[in-house]
This record gives sequence, structure tokens and C-alpha cells, in this order.
Amino acid sequence: MPTFASAITCIDGRVLPPLIDFARDRYGVDAVDVVTEPGVDATVPELVDDLTRRLAPSIDKHGSHDVVLAGHEDCAGNPVDEATHRQHLARSAAALSTALGPEVDVLAVYIHLDGTVDVLDGG
Ligand SMILES: [Zn+2]
Repeated sequence: MPTFASAITCIDGRVLPPLIDFARDRYGVDAVDVVTEPGVDATVPELVDDLTRRLAPSIDKHGSHDVVLAGHEDCAGNPVDEATHRQHLARSAAALSTALGPEVDVLAVYIHLDGTVDVLDGG
């Protein structure tokens, strides 16, 4: 039975490979299920019901217990500076964690275009 983690990230294809590598390494899983939405690090509080529904197969059928929420450098969907991305990520991770409940851990990360993945404080 393959093991899974989950990720919620922007649609930007540049950050998918480093995000998937990061999550596979961190959680030791075989695969990472990905939900994409433009600039999602800023919009989780408004979209949390939809995102939770889209994550449900990953959690309920694939048995994922870990969700990585990613923001990234040079984001067309959320064109703000890094400090603001980090503020958005903290707020969005908190909203997602509340929605998903105590069985699922949420980790916020910021991805640089060189592929570096920074784990935010509290992650
Ligand atoms: Zn983006």
C-alpha cells in the first residue's frame, strides 16, 4: 500500500518539483497529492471549504496525515513581497489546520525559485 502526503500550492509549475521532493523526503511517503489554486497562500480562509473538499480523497482514501501549504517567490497569483507571503501563509495555515482538525498536520513553507524550501516558524 503506497503512502501519501498532501500539498496545497499555487498553479505555478516551477515550484511543483521542489515541493514534491520536499514533502516526500520530509514525510517518507511514496507520493504527494497536490491541490492547486492560483496564489492560494493568500486565499485559504475564503476557500477553506472548497479546499477541504478537494483534499478529502487524499486524506480519507489515501490516508494522508500531513498537508504542506506552499507560497512561493515571484507568484503571479499573489504578487506580494516575501514578508507578506509569510504573513499570508501563517494566517492560511491556521485556517486550514482548524478546518482539517487534529488528525491532520499542516506545515507552511515558502519556496524560492532556486528550489530552496523554507519551513515557516511553528511548522
Ligand atoms: Zn504563484
